Amino acid sequence: MIELRTSAEIDEMRAAGSFVASTVSALAAASRVGVNLLALDAMAADLIRRAGATSSYVDYHPSFGAMPFGKVLCTSVNDAALHGLPFDYALRDGDVLSLDFAASVNGWVADSAMTVIVGAARPEDRKLIDTTERALAAGIAASTVGARVGDVSAAIGAVCTAAGYSVNTDFGGHGVGRTMHGDPHIPNDGRPGRGLPLRPGLVFAIEPWLMETTDRIFTDPDGWTLRSLDGSRAAHSEHTIAITEDGPLVLTARD
Ligand code: MG
Repeated sequence: MIELRTSAEIDEMRAAGSFVASTVSALAAASRVGVNLLALDAMAADLIRRAGATSSYVDYHPSFGAMPFGKVLCTSVNDAALHGLPFDYALRDGDVLSLDFAASVNGWVADSAMTVIVGAARPEDRKLIDTTERALAAGIAASTVGARVGDVSAAIGAVCTAAGYSVNTDFGGHGVGRTMHGDPHIPNDGRPGRGLPLRPGLVFAIEPWLMETTDRIFTDPDGWTLRSLDGSRAAHSEHTIAITEDGPLVLTARD
C-alpha cells in the first residue's frame, strides 16, 4: 500500500533522519584498521540507547532471512554487498566497508547507507563507491512531483551502466514510514515514464548498490550476508527522501 505523509508528519520524520545520518557519520569515522565489526555494532547500539531510538534491524525477520537479524547495523565487507551480519572480524588496510543503518525515532523510521574504504584506497574501489554515490544523487534529482518511479530507476541505472557496471534489480529502494520496508519498490534500473507517479508526501529510500564485475549474488552460510557470486567487491549508498512540492527533501542528509 502506498501511504502519503502530511507535511507535519514529514517534519516529525526529520528527527529519525538526522539521528540515522549522524550515526552513519560516526560509524564511518570509527571504521579504522583494527576495529572489529562487533565493536561498530555495539557503538551503534549505544547511540540508539542514548537517543531513545529503536533499532529497525534487531528483530527483523523477513521471508529471506534465516532468523531474526539480532544486530542493529549491517556491515558488508569487500565481496559482501548487502545485509552484512556483523561478526568477529577486525578491519584490515584496504577493506571496503558498507555501513547500512535504520532506526526509528518517535515512531518514524529512517534508513541510510554509505561505503567507506579503510586505510589505503584502491582506485577501482574508489570508482565503485563514487558510482553508487553519483547514482544516488541522480535518483534523488529525478524524484520530483510528476515524475514516476521508472524515471528514478532509469536515472540510477544510467549512471551505473555508463560507468561499466551491471545492475542487480532484485534489491533496491523502498517506501519508508512507520516500518522500514513498504511500497513502492524502487528498482536500481528501469524505464522512464513507467510506474507510480510521485506525489507530495511519498517517502522512500533510494539505494544503489553495485558489484565490480557481476550482478549476481549468493547468501553466505550466516543466513543473511549477500555476497557477489564472483568475489568482486561491492559498494552501497542510500538516503531516505520525501517528495515535496519544493523538490526532494533528503531526510538522512549528512553534514
Ligand atoms: Mg538501508
